[in-house]
Amino acid sequence: MTSDSPTSQRAVFGTWPTPLEPMPRLARAIGLGAGDLWVKRDDLTGLGGGGNKVRKLEWTCGAALADGATALVTTGAPQSNHARLTAAAGARLGLDVVLVLAGEPGSSTSGNLALDGLFGATVVWAGDVDDKALDSAAEQVAEELRGRGAVPALIPFGGSSVLGARGYAECGRELLVQAPDLATVVVAVGSGGTMAGLLDPLGSARVLGVHCGAVTDPARTVSELASGLSGTHCAPETLSLRLDQVGDGYATLTEAAMAALTLTARAEGIVLDPIYTGRAMAGLIAAIEEGDVVPGQRTIFLHSGGMPGLFGHAATLAALEAALTPSNP
Ligand SMILES: *Cc1c(COP(=O)(O)O)cnc(C)c1O
Repeated sequence: MTSDSPTSQRAVFGTWPTPLEPMPRLARAIGLGAGDLWVKRDDLTGLGGGGNKVRKLEWTCGAALADGATALVTTGAPQSNHARLTAAAGARLGLDVVLVLAGEPGSSTSGNLALDGLFGATVVWAGDVDDKALDSAAEQVAEELRGRGAVPALIPFGGSSVLGARGYAECGRELLVQAPDLATVVVAVGSGGTMAGLLDPLGSARVLGVHCGAVTDPARTVSELASGLSGTHCAPETLSLRLDQVGDGYATLTEAAMAALTLTARAEGIVLDPIYTGRAMAGLIAAIEEGDVVPGQRTIFLHSGGMPGLFGHAATLAALEAALTPSNP
């Protein structure tokens, strides 16, 4: 990795460093000491409603600008936080944005989708397709843009490339300044770039990933990105990765995630999301119950954002509405 390659130019549009805050009431509620649990507020990254994708986009958009791009093209699920933040980054940089989303038009315009439109992105619906077909739909969109004289840059799924993961190596270094004694960082794993980046400065013994069901082989996905970033082989079996929080699949709400997001909101006034951070907190609670995370050591929960997704998730909204209705009127 050469530091003077054009792709190493970073477009800065976030707010750094993000805060590290204590969560004493939640810590006690889940079996840790009051001073043991801290939250890294990467939900407060500044741009477009915030979240972890901002750090990755600073690098991938930096490369796009260096390549003379006039448009950004990326892919995702209908409630993709990455797609929303790509739309925001494009707005900030004055680039057109086309989001190629899996699914059919018209099902919903809530949550992230509403913000995609607000940021002025164009949405192309790819239908009910697998990852490969979604990628080729994005290629096709890029080809059409080239035909019209535009210069499109393809931003990878979830913003997770070796280049994008550099943003999370930077986050890991921020954490080592804010909390040099940290024992464990707990992080949701989607497309893998966030965990892979953290591994670079922190090492596999200090990063606990919680798989959310977005990819089929999370250990391989993370290890490949981590290997590319560090230049040395990262063996998938050395990673700490919990696979027990997926439930009925990526887009579904698990009971454990709903319980974790309710507990976190009521103990600390912090909003998690049903897909990623709710699962990650549920994974941390399970890790404490099993003795993998223990009191007396500093545990950091990486809050990777996702609040807009909560407002686009029907099952979560139904559960919240039911909780508002008094059971004994
Ligand atoms: C995308 C996302 C993640 C997962 O990050 P990856 O780098 O894709 O693994 C976690 N939390 C939220 C809120 C996200 O949007």
